[in-house]
Amino acid sequence: MDQKKKNIIVTGGAGFLGSHLCERLLDQGHNVICLDNLQTGYKENIYKFLDNPRFEFIRHDICDPIRLEADEIYNLACPASPPQYQANPVSTTKTCVLGSINMLGLAKRNHAKILQASTSEVYGDPKVHPQPESYHGDVNPIGIRACYDEGKRCAETLFFDYYRQHKVKIKVMRIFNTYGPNMDPYDGRVVSNFIVQALKGEDITIYGDGSQTRSFCYVDDLITGMITLMNSDDSITGPINIGNPGEFTIKQLAQEVLTQINSKSTLVFRELPADDPNRRRPDNTFAKKHLNWEPKITLSEGLKPTIEYFRQIIES
Ligand code: NAD
Ligand code: UDP
Repeated sequence: MDQKKKNIIVTGGAGFLGSHLCERLLDQGHNVICLDNLQTGYKENIYKFLDNPRFEFIRHDICDPIRLEADEIYNLACPASPPQYQANPVSTTKTCVLGSINMLGLAKRNHAKILQASTSEVYGDPKVHPQPESYHGDVNPIGIRACYDEGKRCAETLFFDYYRQHKVKIKVMRIFNTYGPNMDPYDGRVVSNFIVQALKGEDITIYGDGSQTRSFCYVDDLITGMITLMNSDDSITGPINIGNPGEFTIKQLAQEVLTQINSKSTLVFRELPADDPNRRRPDNTFAKKHLNWEPKITLSEGLKPTIEYFRQIIES
């Protein structure tokens, strides 16, 4: 780890991943500025940092320019849950595109390093399995997921053009489905939905027949990968997959949640949303080789603290 104390901007720092990142960076002794418009994030996620003199929260929409000083920028701002990013699709694309332009401009002025929280969604409904970074993906550009998928793809384009044209130091990280404490219990993602439904004894809503797969990474592993990538040699731009290769059908996830909670909830089947990817698993070869990073926490292990987090929220 680079021991020097740095000034670091985290956009989307009041969200699920951003709040964990702020915590880790503060623990490492850095100064952290959290830029967030609280569209899908919560002040509750950052309350405990507010009296830390090395932490500053600025309520700001990254679609608008801002002038700040920083050594590093982590660009995480963007709704990540399909119901949330589809609620205002034009805003989602603006956040990805205008937000990236503003943050890249800030990085350029500051000669700062900038990391983009990209996504496995750039692979769309993949024809190659598992997905290596060299796969260019199969995204429907006019579908209901496109505001996010194409927004993130365009953001990657902008990162690489700022790198080639303006020599900005970039890191592009393709994040696969991640879960853990601080997720919004009602954001509509599969892990939060299933746990909340099981804890409340409600039906578990499986979309389609539940045979589609995802690979779930626990948040602590993900944040380690993110910071390791930021601190890696400038020659490592990515894109780089960071995710857990343990692949599960959605039905298997439901069973695991039911078993851990000892819930009597029943599985019900609902229509599969349009363009829902059929399978997804990261090829982690690049991350292992260049970052010496591998996830350590299995789904079964990571679900335990996640369930406890949701239990406390529901019971409070
Ligand atoms: P999240 O919705 O919990 O957090 C996103 C944060 O960004 C929220 O606090 C929200 O208020 C803020 N935000 C949104 N638009 C903004 C804007 N225009 N200006 C300022 N702030 C804005 O989502 P998350 O799971 O923490 O995801 C963080 C990032 O990681 C996102 O960019 C997402 O695309 C990416 N990602 C996440 C996952 C995952 O599984 N969690 C997977 C792939 C990629
Ligand atoms: N899903 C489901 N029930 C739910 C929520 C999601 O079966 O209550 C499915 C969804 O159709 C998808 C998978 O779970 O196949 C993962 O969905 P999520 O929204 O968490 O992430 P993404 O589709 O972006 O990977």
